Amino acid sequence: MIFTYDTELTLRAACMLVNSNRGASGGVDGAADTVGDVAGLDAYLAEFGWTGRRDRDAAELADVHRLRERIGRIWAVAEDEERTVGQVNALLSDTKASPWLTRHAEMPEWHLHLASIHDPLAQRMGAEMAMALADLIRGGELRRLKTCAAPDCDAVLFDVSRNRSKIFCDTGNCGNRQHVAAYRARSRDG
Ligand SMILES: [Zn+2]
Ligand SMILES: [Zn+2]
Repeated sequence: MIFTYDTELTLRAACMLVNSNRGASGGVDGAADTVGDVAGLDAYLAEFGWTGRRDRDAAELADVHRLRERIGRIWAVAEDEERTVGQVNALLSDTKASPWLTRHAEMPEWHLHLASIHDPLAQRMGAEMAMALADLIRGGELRRLKTCAAPDCDAVLFDVSRNRSKIFCDTGNCGNRQHVAAYRARSRDG
């Protein structure tokens, strides 16, 4: 394992959040927003075992969507280490991240929480994502944050492959689509 379990899990969650309204333009889902309503957000949080306060109202949903845009902007500048550090520091500060060790039924391994369970959802999510990003940067692994190489896809990826060789996202079957497109182009040319 490259990172601690909770760092990797949180970065996967961040990646999926950013991709929740992205993907290949020609994909089956189009630009559908999988966390566009409270039920979608519930499903997303359940997948990652997120616990703590839930308001289940429009304000909470809007805050999560704002966080999604913010994390997306961090991914977009990931090739620029200085800019990424600036944005991660700002997110740590804005979410008042304050780490403490905990474990609970949903996640029995010791791991960090970065906010009180009584803090608003987007604040807690933002703090944990900022800390996971800080971990990535400290480990010199920022290059694992990528944008899908398919020309018609704006999804992001968190590349956990050993040699950091992934270039396509997991959302739109982009690797296969590009392979087929390249094959067709070769057939045409030949
Ligand atoms: Zn926890
Ligand atoms: Zn893609």
